[in-house]
Amino acid sequence: MFSLDYPTWFLALMIAPFGLAMGSFANVLIYRLPLEEPEDRNVVTKSSHCPSCKAPIKPWHNIPLFGWLWLRGKCAACGWKIPGRYPLVELLGGLIFAASVYLFPVGSLIWFKALVCAFALLVLFFTDYTEFFLPDVLQFPLMILGVLFTLPQLFWPNQTVTILIGNQQYFRADLFHNGLQMSPLWTLFGEAVTWKSSLLGLVVGYGGPTVINAIYKLIRKTDGLGMGDFKMLAWLGAFWGWAPMLGIFFGGALLLTAFSLPLIITRRLKGQSMLPFGCFLALATFPVVFYGPAIWSWYMGTMVR
Ligand SMILES: [Zn+2]
Repeated sequence: MFSLDYPTWFLALMIAPFGLAMGSFANVLIYRLPLEEPEDRNVVTKSSHCPSCKAPIKPWHNIPLFGWLWLRGKCAACGWKIPGRYPLVELLGGLIFAASVYLFPVGSLIWFKALVCAFALLVLFFTDYTEFFLPDVLQFPLMILGVLFTLPQLFWPNQTVTILIGNQQYFRADLFHNGLQMSPLWTLFGEAVTWKSSLLGLVVGYGGPTVINAIYKLIRKTDGLGMGDFKMLAWLGAFWGWAPMLGIFFGGALLLTAFSLPLIITRRLKGQSMLPFGCFLALATFPVVFYGPAIWSWYMGTMVR
């Protein structure tokens, strides 16, 4: 069977520029999607301009990371200080793409799915962080996409392929988790997410927090979670199945608690003030999806003993 045999660092280097470009596009989405006017939310045909003076940005100033370095972090027209978030998001885009080849088998469905998920989380993390906003225009299509990702295995069930992993050793793997080249860190060739698990993740992700919120509302007379958080859980459930979705929910809640306790103790956070839960869900997703099965079996192991 056809496979690549490049050093992983070389693949990472080849793919990183695409990530930087996607990071640049993420900046456009992060800035424009929360805007009020529908015309301002146009991210497809409207060209880039300085958010401060509206001057169009020259193409060579728009080159990810390098444009910012060239301009020393200031708008060429008005001298507006470009927030550090812009180069940071571009850098993160590059790092996500570079890391993807270490984590998931290149060219596989799960690799593509992981990239889509990571890119969406990058955008949502920053819209939630800066504006407390998780745009529907991203989250609803992601719900559908998550379910669609489970369909190929219905048409070609139980496909396995054999790949050479060196020293005449062969490895049989699920077709939907296998790509053109093995990734050094992906050893958990688990079952692909089924359409049932995906749909259940979608429904429970949306419905579960609705119930929790209703209880919270009875006690505290206020919304505990925003609707955007439910939708985020719903599409993460559609992507990774119902069990990881629950893991992401608890992981996110754990991170939120760990982060807000010191703030509550030092009285920097009042009881009613809000922290962006979506940010914590985004942070919890990677460890749960990648290490979830290992963490779970370790946890169950300690429970039995
Ligand atoms: Zn400007």
